[in-house]
Amino acid sequence: MNPHEAPKRGPSFKEPPICVGCGILVDPTRPSCGTCSTTYASPPLRARSQPGGGYWVAIKASFSCHGCNFRVPLNHFQRDDGVTCTRCGIEQRFDDSWKELVEFAHSVGDFGTPGHEGRFPDPELRLPEPKPYAALGSGDSWVSGPHASASLGNPLCRACKAPVVVVDDHRGDFGVACSRCNERRQYERAEALRYKLAGIVADEHEAGRREVALVQNRGAAVLTCPNCNAPLVGVKDADGGVTCGHCNVPCRISTRTHALVGHKETPAKTWWFYFDTPCEERRRLLRRGQQAIEHREKLQANNEQKSRWMSRRRSEPETSYLAQPAHVPKAERRALVPVPVVIAVVIVIVAVVGILVWLAPWT
Ligand SMILES: [Zn+2]
Ligand SMILES: [Zn+2]
Ligand SMILES: [Zn+2]
Ligand SMILES: [Zn+2]
Repeated sequence: MNPHEAPKRGPSFKEPPICVGCGILVDPTRPSCGTCSTTYASPPLRARSQPGGGYWVAIKASFSCHGCNFRVPLNHFQRDDGVTCTRCGIEQRFDDSWKELVEFAHSVGDFGTPGHEGRFPDPELRLPEPKPYAALGSGDSWVSGPHASASLGNPLCRACKAPVVVVDDHRGDFGVACSRCNERRQYERAEALRYKLAGIVADEHEAGRREVALVQNRGAAVLTCPNCNAPLVGVKDADGGVTCGHCNVPCRISTRTHALVGHKETPAKTWWFYFDTPCEERRRLLRRGQQAIEHREKLQANNEQKSRWMSRRRSEPETSYLAQPAHVPKAERRALVPVPVVIAVVIVIVAVVGILVWLAPWT
């Protein structure tokens, strides 16, 4: 498989069973949902297959505040990579941690899907043993990771509680529609793309909503409608969005605003990430597998070349050592005349000259 493309699902693939009350993965060891306490339906509701093989991951996130050490909820992305503590109001950096959190959610969505090879089974890859997040859907509905717990599932329609599906949104936002009553909602796409997500579903990211305004009234912070300036009444610590009772305009309330107005009990809420590709860890494993195959093939090719060379050498006629003097140049052949022969010749010449010199006076 090309690590950059999402493969098509096989016909036997089934989306996971989900709770009818909150859309989180069913834990079949329990009669009711551990997240929202709703009794599971029988047969269970299932997540809907999404266009292009996309899939949802539910997130409940929090961070440990550097100022007051409280665990503080993270219910949406913030505009400047920083996060604000709802307890003490201190803003702090979180940029790399968002990346880590999104990667964790991505791997839960891919590897945590029921079936031994997860959401994207591949003939070239076996997931490590034990399978990552193996307890998901068989004893647990959530798994813990950096800054968050994650689960599988499908966000439900606010009106009728049927699972939503992703739809085209011509305005460029991320759109979802109810699979039963067709109620539609749009969420900011830019915020999703910033963190390499295909989409987000969270009240605080709903598109076209303005942030509530904050005014000081006799020393107390009061939330007001950004459209008509009417005070917003009945806003709870958990609200991510609210509709003005005066002009009916829907608006949003960020964690930062909750902190500024003194809402210390804002809970960690469930929000949803939408992915449409295999997770980064699967791509890493695939790349490593492909490199190992390429390395093996290269080694095999080298060995084959070596053995071809060896057999060619064996089949060539071997050069005789004894035949070598025939190729030695003349000068070298002279050097090969044995030394005793030279000495004998010198002795004979000296003897003959000696005899001639001795005989000379008598001739
Ligand atoms: Zn539930
Ligand atoms: Zn704090
Ligand atoms: Zn609906
Ligand atoms: Zn208003």
